[in-house]
Amino acid sequence: MLLIDGKKISTDIKDELKVRVEELKSKGIEITLAVIQVGNDPASSVYVGNKKKACAYIGINSLAYELEESTTQEELLELIAKLNADSKVNGILVQLPLPSHINEKSIINAIDPMKDVDGFHPVSVGNLSIGQPGFLSCTPAGIVQLLKRSGVEIAGKECVVIGRSNIVGKPISLLMLRENATVTIAHSKTKDLKEVAKRADILIVAVGKPMFINSEYVKEGAVVIDVGIHRKEDGKLCGDVDFEDVKEHVSAITPVPGGVGPMTIAMLMKNCVDSIEIAEANNA
Ligand code: NAP
Repeated sequence: MLLIDGKKISTDIKDELKVRVEELKSKGIEITLAVIQVGNDPASSVYVGNKKKACAYIGINSLAYELEESTTQEELLELIAKLNADSKVNGILVQLPLPSHINEKSIINAIDPMKDVDGFHPVSVGNLSIGQPGFLSCTPAGIVQLLKRSGVEIAGKECVVIGRSNIVGKPISLLMLRENATVTIAHSKTKDLKEVAKRADILIVAVGKPMFINSEYVKEGAVVIDVGIHRKEDGKLCGDVDFEDVKEHVSAITPVPGGVGPMTIAMLMKNCVDSIEIAEANNA
């Protein structure tokens, strides 16, 4: 059984990006990411801190905007308009969730699609679905990298994705289709989920329920990607997959922690570096 090492793969990607950033710098091109946080939710502060650290490691400039919880939607939209117009800013990231008085959809839609490094803007989602260059949603893009860099062949394989959220299930299904897998998307209304899941050569689980998938859902020798992250009562982390029950039956599996989790920031960094080429491709 291969344990897919997201920590190592994400570090490899960041090291490759570091080299690309140095090359760009030698041509006089700097990359700048603007990170906006509204309020001081502790989990969001940790994520924002990790993003700033990753920028520093790779050589990307980061601009931090730490706004009061009471910031209005209009004020946030004004800041986004200013950053959209600033040619020195390549990427804009608004840390979610936002306080309840701000409409997340309006904020995401206000970001210039050429600076949408989270890949959540409808233009990015549209580009993904029709196979045009654009920003890929970070967690799904990270899953494809985990598979490819672990030597898992995707083309022609049966892939079952459990979950159809806009941030994981739908975009990973489109990406696996782009990689020529035969894709089935399962959700809470799917009948006979065990039978459907057992078709999978590659089973991607983004169901949001701790240890929901056990060996009864897994075909012998399948590759299992566990997107879920949950904190158990004993303080330890677990995924959507019952790792101990499943591990003897799979050919490869991602652990939690240390699987999909570390990939998300690495792919955000990749989107920042790719922003130069994406802007060029869209201006061509
Ligand atoms: P979500 O928005 O809650 O979506 C869960 C999906 O699972 C929904 O599509 C839902 O179906 C489906 N589902 C729920 N119960 C089901 C059941 N009994 N049988 C079949 N399908 C069922 O979750 P998400 O945002 O995609 O996140 C999924 C997990 O990934 C969470 O644990 C989250 O914390 C984690 N996550 C991790 C990362 C990372 O960086 N590693 C990033 C994002 C998310 P319906 O659509 O029919 O309701």
